[in-house]
Amino acid sequence: MALLELIDVSVHYGSIRAVHGISITVEEAEIVTLIGANGAGKSTTMRAVSGIRPLSSGKILFDGQDITKLRADLRVVRGISQAPEGRGVFPGMTVMENLDMGAFTRKDKKGIAADRDRVFDLFPRLAERRTQVGGTMSGGEQQMLAIGRALMANPRVLLLDEPSMGLAPQFIQQIFKIITEINKQGTTVLLVEQNAQQALSRAHRAYVLETGTITREGTGKELLSDESVKAAYLGVT
Ligand code: ATP
Repeated sequence: MALLELIDVSVHYGSIRAVHGISITVEEAEIVTLIGANGAGKSTTMRAVSGIRPLSSGKILFDGQDITKLRADLRVVRGISQAPEGRGVFPGMTVMENLDMGAFTRKDKKGIAADRDRVFDLFPRLAERRTQVGGTMSGGEQQMLAIGRALMANPRVLLLDEPSMGLAPQFIQQIFKIITEINKQGTTVLLVEQNAQQALSRAHRAYVLETGTITREGTGKELLSDESVKAAYLGVT
């Protein structure tokens, strides 16, 4: 049984159809990536999974259960946690306070402390800056904090929307390495990326979204060597 399954999902914004009848499967322990051009519907798909945006049709199953109508906060409790595009850290709160917000659904103090240690191991920079307020951190540091905060929910699947956006090249490499590490520690990852080269080389499987529909799917390797993917997303002709 797949951990996460989108079945024939459509999402509209008023009369605008952003996502049209897509089906995506994420198996436990995988990194699955969605690539696609601006406006293809990647963020909308993530919002549908996290419950921020309702479906106009289709179904979402998590761990075999239908969560299509489940509230976003209850999805976090089930194990779906998102680090949103644009980072969204709380600018007036310290690193520690931001991380604690990520654990708002939990009461297991020991587990929370263990996950805080996990986050500080993954991102030593956050450990050094634990009393700094989020709004004064650099873009790359805020991205780390957003991912760290999402991990504080101890998710079974971590949703990452454009984690490399706006980062300097050395930070991009680092973020992708950390994503692989998070996955090796046992967390399933659903990743949306414009940096197709990096995302496909890190992903077990991938889907290409074009104007709201899935046009290709395969292993990361398969898509890296697919001629149409190369031409459209990898800048290779
Ligand atoms: P990007 O890489 O540029 O972030 P994306 O693949 O994540 O793009 P979405 O943000 O999911 O794309 O947008 C898909 C489509 O839905 C676009 O045509 C966009 O203009 C539209 N859309 C997204 N959010 C809204 C909204 N709140 N209201 C109206 N239309 C929206």
